[in-house]
Amino acid sequence: MPLSHDDVRELDRQDPLAPFRPRFALPPGTIYLDGNSLGAQPSAAVEAVDALMAQWRDSLIQGWNQGWFDAPERLGDRLAPLLGAEPGEVLVTDTITHNLFKLLGYITEGQGITEGQAQARPVILSEGGNFPTDGYIAQGFCRFGGFEHWVVPEGESFDAYLDERVAVVVLSHVHYRTGRLRDMAAITRQVYASGAEVIWDLAHSAGALPVELAACGVRYAVGCTYKYLNGGPGAPAFLYVRRDCQDRAWQPLSGWLGHASPFAFEADYAPAPGITRFRTGTHSPLACAALEASLALWQEVDLALLRRKSQRLIELFRDALGDCLAKHGIADITPPEAQRGSQVGLVAPAHGYAIVQALIARGVIGDYREPGLMRFGFAPLYLSHEDVWQAAQHMRAVLSEGEYLAPRFKQRGAVT
Ligand SMILES: *Cc1c(COP(=O)(O)O)cnc(C)c1O
Repeated sequence: MPLSHDDVRELDRQDPLAPFRPRFALPPGTIYLDGNSLGAQPSAAVEAVDALMAQWRDSLIQGWNQGWFDAPERLGDRLAPLLGAEPGEVLVTDTITHNLFKLLGYITEGQGITEGQAQARPVILSEGGNFPTDGYIAQGFCRFGGFEHWVVPEGESFDAYLDERVAVVVLSHVHYRTGRLRDMAAITRQVYASGAEVIWDLAHSAGALPVELAACGVRYAVGCTYKYLNGGPGAPAFLYVRRDCQDRAWQPLSGWLGHASPFAFEADYAPAPGITRFRTGTHSPLACAALEASLALWQEVDLALLRRKSQRLIELFRDALGDCLAKHGIADITPPEAQRGSQVGLVAPAHGYAIVQALIARGVIGDYREPGLMRFGFAPLYLSHEDVWQAAQHMRAVLSEGEYLAPRFKQRGAVT
């Protein structure tokens, strides 16, 4: 039997993560199911940014020696436990896009085409249907770095592609559209057995579920902090390089802040020891302040509880939708529990965009990705069971009354 309104309120009363919810500022009347695109605002982030503004005003350039300068390493250390990593292995900097390029160059230094010499492993392998920037960067890197780019077609196993020519594989831990969670340990082992390296993209798993980089044998990873980690719009991304894999090579964006002694202003580049060499240029202390406030909150989160609630919310949403999806020709592509992240994907080829717009008009915010996919992210720190139950009731109403057919729900903005 589907849960009643009273049932879901009782679940909220028993929810050990419920005390986090009042620590986020959400507009009244909003049920936010888009934390997989841009996380909600921790109230502490507002105070942190205000304090940073005051510090800028009062301390001026001295601010750099009052905690601004070492923010990329300090924030990395705070993030590390959420990723199953050690302090000194994570750097908060740049974007995923930049960080992928840096790691591709770092891993393959000295392996590009050199005149008159055969290239041992000329291939960068990525997956079709992944978030585009990952493939675009692989293409750009190959074009300038003298590598070949191969793409495993979406839905195909990469076993047939993983041979002695592949240098690096780029893979998403959780797929941005389908929400499919990969077996990180098994795939990492398989890639190593082929003699290649793998860079894991954690964009949709960091802050959504427990990530165990060390236990899975991972050497390189990237991820962002503005999705489930609630770092704010344009918050800096991160990269992970396992301790014993640091100090091996240059990274190709060899900027001054990754230099061993940036303030010596030497003519030639010399990489800093440790994770610091993965810095490029000047970071934004303002952006770091908001993220640091969010990461302080994350130190209190039990990730096993987070995972349990995330899965419970997903089941609740699907139960409460009941048969209304099938009745309207909507396919639920959400993978089974052991193989999914923290999102639900519903495919409505003709009307997906309009349905999402009609839901937004009712205060239920999800998003839409071509072709036909409605995505709903479940961020357990600020979503209640009641929110999710209500969202399903709104979906039922939008569908049963054909509300989404109104012409105003077909107009498109630049960001969907
Ligand atoms: C969101 C996302 C990105 C974003 O990259 P940025 O360079 O930080 O804008 C990259 N990869 C995946 C898989 C994503 O989901």
